[in-house]
Amino acid sequence: MAKTFKTPQDYLESIQDGRIVYADGEKITNVVEHPITRKGALAFAREYERFHDPELKKIFTTTDPETGDPVDLFLVPPRNADDLLRRARALEYGRDIGYGSSLALSDAILSLYMVSSELAEANPMYKENVDAMYKRFRQEDLIMAIAMSDTKGDRSLHPGQQKDPDMYVRKVAERDDGIVLRGMKAHITGAAFMHELVVMPTKRMKPDESDYSVTCLISPGTPGVKLIMRPRRMTGSQFEYPISYGDVGGECFVWLDDVFVPWERVIQNGEDWLSQPIARGLGLLLRFSALCTQKHYAEVMAGAGYLLAKYNGVDKAPHVQSYLFEMAMLASTLDAFVTSAALSSEIKDNMAIPNGVITNVGKYMFTDKLNQMYKYLIDIGGAIITTQPWETDYNNPELHDTFTKYLSGGDRATAEQRLRLYNFVRDLTADEYGGHFMVTELHGAGSPQAQKMMTLHGYDFEKAAEKVRRLAKIEE
Ligand SMILES: Cc1cc2nc3c(=O)[nH]c(=O)nc-3n(C[C@H](O)[C@H](O)[C@H](O)COP(=O)(O)OP(=O)(O)OC[C@H]3O[C@@H](n4cnc5c(N)ncnc54)[C@H](O)[C@@H]3O)c2cc1C
Repeated sequence: MAKTFKTPQDYLESIQDGRIVYADGEKITNVVEHPITRKGALAFAREYERFHDPELKKIFTTTDPETGDPVDLFLVPPRNADDLLRRARALEYGRDIGYGSSLALSDAILSLYMVSSELAEANPMYKENVDAMYKRFRQEDLIMAIAMSDTKGDRSLHPGQQKDPDMYVRKVAERDDGIVLRGMKAHITGAAFMHELVVMPTKRMKPDESDYSVTCLISPGTPGVKLIMRPRRMTGSQFEYPISYGDVGGECFVWLDDVFVPWERVIQNGEDWLSQPIARGLGLLLRFSALCTQKHYAEVMAGAGYLLAKYNGVDKAPHVQSYLFEMAMLASTLDAFVTSAALSSEIKDNMAIPNGVITNVGKYMFTDKLNQMYKYLIDIGGAIITTQPWETDYNNPELHDTFTKYLSGGDRATAEQRLRLYNFVRDLTADEYGGHFMVTELHGAGSPQAQKMMTLHGYDFEKAAEKVRRLAKIEE
């Protein structure tokens, strides 16, 4: 029988599995019904519309290479540069229509596919498990959380040296039928709303830390799994929060309180040498996905700067022109990075892997420039970015005409146009969402040092040095 896609309603039913979520002081046993988590569940449910709307289907689905059925684009490994570019455009478009991060989170299973030959070498069962899981994800339209980052304790010490051995998730028992895990993963995006948690090591483990090198899938409803979610606290209307209104937040601490994992869900168990390729592979794929969405944000910031300048009549001012140039440069550069990382991808085991150096440099560049972009927007916009009237005052019949008069930009923009734009810019740069966004872009997919290290590791300095030897006629 031909495959049918889950509907938003099917998704909502599928996550009512008794999972335990703590949020804002409450213990929640049904994330769909509870008022704190319902909005988040509905946000992820909305994304299932992409499998049913004829126009969205063209962008977000592809053909299953094994069955020929239509499946989620993000659950089929990219085979070539064109596939990577198609994913890039879909990710960017997803942000454009207000989708969250569930599309990019599929990088978790893709990263395991990427190292499947190493997994097979260690134990054929691992690759069989990855293949079976991938198939199930595609057949059942599942979404997953990336449970990689540990709480880590003292950063100067390796996992095995920590005073408390539980600071990194580890195997505490091995049984005939599987393994038992203990520890806490941190900052895990969307974990309360996912079908599966992909648990993986956060960095290279040493030979005496093999219990910390474990990769597996855990369903959030499994006994012993507790998810502690941090919902956003913003209140206000869509007019006031045009970007973040639909964004519920939802990073979780994932507490694995001695959780049993059967062998068929284990992808790697104790091979310390597999931890590095797994962590690196995921880091690269996540950074490529981040680049694609950052391209969208860079364009949004350039557009906001341009409109602010026009509405306020400062678009010809030399310093504003200089800001607009910087914004255009960043947006164009990111566009070039995405294309170039895809076009210079390398094929391994029939999968296209984005160029590592270009991807890492691109992600670093956006992170590095983000606070400057905020500065430009805030400087062009002026104080009213944070002092504008709330919607309730603007629409108060006693004040509305007065605000319409005094907040207009003359012939350049009405008060309403300006207020809408200012709400947008405040939400993006100078409120809870803006602050969160800054941290997300800096640390999400690895903090800047990780990108520096991968660039230093991947850049061909010898090739560059050879040029210098030749040009300078140096003999060594
Ligand atoms: C909004 C958001 C969503 C996220 N979602 C996910 C997710 O879904 N799944 C997931 O697994 N993770 C997620 N993360 C976590 C993200 O991957 C980490 O934040 C990132 O890897 C950095 O780790 P950290 O936060 O523990 O910071 P740290 O590792 O503590 O880094 C802080 C600083 O210390 C430095 N540092 C750390 N260790 C050392 C060392 N040994 N030597 C020298 N310097 C060191 C770093 O370079 C950095 O400058 C998310 C993060 C954010 C902000």
